[in-house]
Amino acid sequence: MCGIAGYIGDRNAPEILIDMLERLEYRGYDSAGISCICGNEIKTIKDKGKVCNLKEKVLSKEIPSRVGIAHTRWATHGEPSHDNAHPHSDCSAIINIVHNGIIENYRDLKQELTEKGHRFTSETDTEVIPHLLEEQYRKVGNFERAFKKAIEKLRGSFAIVAINMNEPDRILVARKESPLIIGRGDGENFIASDMPAILPNTKRIIIMNDFEYGIVSKDSVVIKDITSDKVVEKEIQEIDWDIEQAEKGGFEHFMLKEIFEEPDAVKNAFRGIEEIKKVAGKLKEYKRIYFVACGTASYAGLMGKYLLERFGIPSEAVVGSEFRYSTANVIGKDCAVIAISQSGETADTIASATKAKENGAYLVS
Ligand code: GLU
Repeated sequence: MCGIAGYIGDRNAPEILIDMLERLEYRGYDSAGISCICGNEIKTIKDKGKVCNLKEKVLSKEIPSRVGIAHTRWATHGEPSHDNAHPHSDCSAIINIVHNGIIENYRDLKQELTEKGHRFTSETDTEVIPHLLEEQYRKVGNFERAFKKAIEKLRGSFAIVAINMNEPDRILVARKESPLIIGRGDGENFIASDMPAILPNTKRIIIMNDFEYGIVSKDSVVIKDITSDKVVEKEIQEIDWDIEQAEKGGFEHFMLKEIFEEPDAVKNAFRGIEEIKKVAGKLKEYKRIYFVACGTASYAGLMGKYLLERFGIPSEAVVGSEFRYSTANVIGKDCAVIAISQSGETADTIASATKAKENGAYLVS
């Protein structure tokens, strides 16, 4: 997971983006960065470390800009370092992007692009994106068309936010398997991975779906389907949560908040007791039950296994990153899979669940 943000409007972009990043920091915090269009250059400030370090560097400088992008990273490819921090740029420093997700075919793309003369400066999978964009932009001379052509070549998961110095009136966005929402303001628009970053500015939200891309300018948002290239009419949702509800609930840390939420979490889960009973009844029909999860959620899976086995029901708890490449290949219609993820975004758990379903297993999540 990581947090991405974008802003276009009449206010000072760096200040707004830093505030948005601070509200997304729970999603990733090994490095952070920001890129803003200032006249005929893109100013980028990024480094290893938390958003507060970046904040000091950004706010101590005069960066007059009305459009920019930002990122707080949780590394998947390449260690946390200045060079690996997002935003990433093309060779000519015209295009900058931030990305959340994993580009699975990045090795092949990197090799192809290197052979064409592109110079890479990071170890990330992400950096292929600005170079692909540069390549396409050179060919078609239009940012939107280049963007669409570039994202069509990507395999894996992505939420992307991109700017181009030559077209400063727009930010381009795309989504596949990583969250991305757009906040509609008055003469300004906001892009982020999650609600807390946007709600202080506007409560009017557009939720992007997989395989959609968009052109976000100061006064308009156009969303299109990546496959058909047709405009998708999106509903603007009025979000009635307040920012406290969306953030840490007044606690100093998320872990503390979650510990204190446990009684309510259990109560809330039991509101669905009728549904739970139905699922429990259905589980009886299966020969083997697998709990699949990653990280702390996998401890919940282990707990599930112990509970079921106490009642003589055979079950296994398998970590998502193992399951997707091994167990997923041997399960079938006689198996049930219980996938657990707190964020709902854990890539290995999602891949495991998808494969299990494809193989005919009964899936509970
Ligand atoms: N794969 C990218 C990187 O390692 C993005 C990381 C993420 O989404 O957390 O830089």
